[in-house]
Order: sequence, then structure tokens, then C-alpha cells
Amino acid sequence: MTRRVTILGATGSIGQNTIDLIARDQGRFSVVALTGGQNIARLAADARALRAELAVTADPALLGPLREALAGSDVEAAAGPEALVEAARRPADWIMSAIVGAAGLQPGLAALEQGTVLALANKETLVTAGPLVMRTAAAHGATILPVDSEHSAVFQAMLGEDMSSVERIILTASGGAFRDWPLEQLPEATLAQASTHPNWDMGQRITIDSASMFNKALEVIEAKEFFDIAPERIEVLIHPESMIHAVVGHIDGGMLAHLGAPDMRHAIGYALNHPERAPLPVERLELAKLGQLTFRAPDPARYPALDLARQVMARGGLSGAVFNAAKEKALDLFIAGQVRFTEMADLVKFALDQADTHSGLIDAEISLDNILKADHFARCQAEAAMAQRQ
Ligand code: NDP
Ligand code: MG
Repeated sequence: MTRRVTILGATGSIGQNTIDLIARDQGRFSVVALTGGQNIARLAADARALRAELAVTADPALLGPLREALAGSDVEAAAGPEALVEAARRPADWIMSAIVGAAGLQPGLAALEQGTVLALANKETLVTAGPLVMRTAAAHGATILPVDSEHSAVFQAMLGEDMSSVERIILTASGGAFRDWPLEQLPEATLAQASTHPNWDMGQRITIDSASMFNKALEVIEAKEFFDIAPERIEVLIHPESMIHAVVGHIDGGMLAHLGAPDMRHAIGYALNHPERAPLPVERLELAKLGQLTFRAPDPARYPALDLARQVMARGGLSGAVFNAAKEKALDLFIAGQVRFTEMADLVKFALDQADTHSGLIDAEISLDNILKADHFARCQAEAAMAQRQ
């Protein structure tokens, strides 16, 4: 029997890597729905090639062009945020969550509500709504498989064991585009410079977040929520070669590291084939050729996002939603050329400090409504912080 799969965020970097794996093995899969945003040509071409039942764009204004691009095929077209949620509700055996940003939360929750397997690349889902997401998965008998490479690595290094045997988790980080820049040059970093990654080929937003380590900050929170581990037992280690994706330290002192070439098709393919393993088109590491792997501690002055993540975990409540939304807004402003690279952390800190004084907002129940309120509040605060700086 074929496996019914849906890909949310099919036109992005993770989505395209997922399609690459599925297209190599089309007999095993039937595609229920593909979703995208602005890239209608890609969405329509993939929906046709994979004979999807449904293609959805997040942008209601693009329904006409999507319909046109699908003319003459059997693929249904739909558009808008509600249509994305409907796509995630269509019965499927495996759903990839690879929309970028908080926009991935509601479709992800809808997927969990149908009790399916959710391959989770969208880290914002757990950062903004961890307890709600884990509760929803449990209530509907859904399985979440981590796709973020570090979390997939931890998951694999813990197979057959539970958290009682784990002393700590170490998430590795490449250090991003500016790991070797003189600190005083960081305020001058341009968008083009921040958009290049030393090792991984990813979407623009996560690439910039890697340079600032907001990506790692989100991942620390994601690890806390998914593995239910105390924040002080999650460490971050700079590992410039990006070959070790995570290390699990056990209570007996043994440490299990997960190694692999920096290619997201490993983590995606692991989730696609789980609980089995199958050959994947990823490079085989030749350790003798690599010669050495190196490590160093991250410098808090270079990566203030890491301390902000610690504050968020200590504060709890809806501060994860505030943190993520303020970060998304700060990143929008950096991409638009309105704030400097180093100002992004200042904007996020401002939003977190403001949220702290609104205890009614941040200590409210972790429900979708309250998450959306906290998200809106944080974006406004980040914008206000920018206005004050000019
Ligand atoms: P991309 O920017 O490459 O792709 C994002 C996808 O989301 C595209 O399909 C895009 O559509 C769609 N999209 C954008 N905005 C919206 C919106 N408002 N509503 C619905 N869909 C939207 O991102 P990545 O693939 O790099 O990342 C996806 C997620 O996976 C992120 O959460 C990221 O943190 C996570 N991740 C990514 C990794 C990577 O290697 N890239 C590694 C680990 C985690 P379109 O392009 O058509 O506009
Ligand atoms: Mg990652």
C-alpha cells in the first residue's frame, strides 16, 4: 500500500528536499497535498509531477495564478491560511511541517489533530506552543518526529532509552557566517553577508538566524519542549565542520554523538522511513579524509540570542511565543534594511522586557488564542523598539 503524504511548505528548502526523496521512490508514496506561498510556478509544477490531490498557496491573491498554472490537470487549487489548515486536515499517513515561521503552527496543530505522523521541521511550532503541541499530539495519538538535524540526531542517539538515562544534551552549531569576524565589525554586516552559510544550504531566514544564533536559541527551546529536559542540561557547542549534529551525554559518562554530512535529506529521510532505515542519497563521510573535528564554546557577546533563550526558558508561559514573534519581526526589519544585524537582539530583548511587565499576557493559559495575542504584542513591541532608536 502506498503511504499518503502531505508537505506543508513544499516550495521551500526543506520542502524541496522532501520532494526530492519522495520523487525518487514514487511507487511508495501518494501525495495528498502540497502547500506553498509565493512560488506558484514551483508549487504547480511539483503538484502536477507528483499527481497531488490538492495544491494550496498561503496567499489568497494568488489563487487565480495557481488555478491557471494547474489548468488541465486533476489537481485541486485553494488559497489562504484557512485552506492551509484544511490541507493539513486531509487524511494522510505522514505530514511534513516545513512552513517557515509562526505561520506553521496552526497547520501543524491541525495535522496532529488527525492523529498522524508529523515530521516537524518548523521549530517555531514547539517554541511558541510547546505544551499545547505536546498535549494535542498525546490527545490524538499523533507521533512527532523531529526533523531539525540536531533534534533528529538526539532522537537517534537516544533510541531504546528514555530521559532517565540522559544527563545532558549538546546541540552543535556551525557558528554561522560571522563566527570569525572581529566583534566590532558585526554592526556593519550586510544582508548578503548574513545570508551565506559556511556549511548548510537552507532558506534565507534560517541562514540569517544561524549567523545571529537565533536559530540555535530557538533550537534550545525546541529541545526543552520536545525532550522535556531541564534547560541547564542543554548545552550549545560551536563545531565549525557541522559533521556532528548533536551529542547525548548519559548518566554513566558515556556520550553518543550523531555524525553525518550536512545534508537535510538525512533527517528528512530518517523521519520518512521511521521506524525503519533505508538508503538515502547523502554523502558517506570519510573520517580519515576529514582528519579532525573541532569544538569551541560560543562567545555570549557575539551571540546574545543564546542568553535570551535562557531567559525565555526561565520565564516560561508564553514568553516563547513573544521571543519567536519579536525575532521574526526583527528579522523582517533587518531584511528590509531598517535595522542593523546587531540590533535584532536589542529589539527582541525589548519585547521580552515589555512582555515581562504584562504578566496577564505572558502568564495566560497556553492556548492558540493567547499565543496569537502574545505574537501580535511582540511584533508591535519590536517595531516600537525600532522607532525609538531612530
Ligand atoms: P524556506 O524559506 O526555504 O521555505 C519556507 C516555506 O514556507 C516555503 O514553502 C514558503 O513558500 C512557505 N511560506 C512562507 N511564508 C508562509 C506563510 N506565511 N504561510 C504559509 N507558508 C509560507 O524555509 P526552510 O525550508 O529553510 O525552513 C522551513 C522550516 O524548517 C523553518 O521553520 C526552519 O526553521 C526549519 N528548518 C529548516 C532547515 C533547513 O535546512 N532549511 C533545517 C532545520 C529546520 P514560498 O517559498 O512559495 O513563498
Ligand atoms: Mg537545526
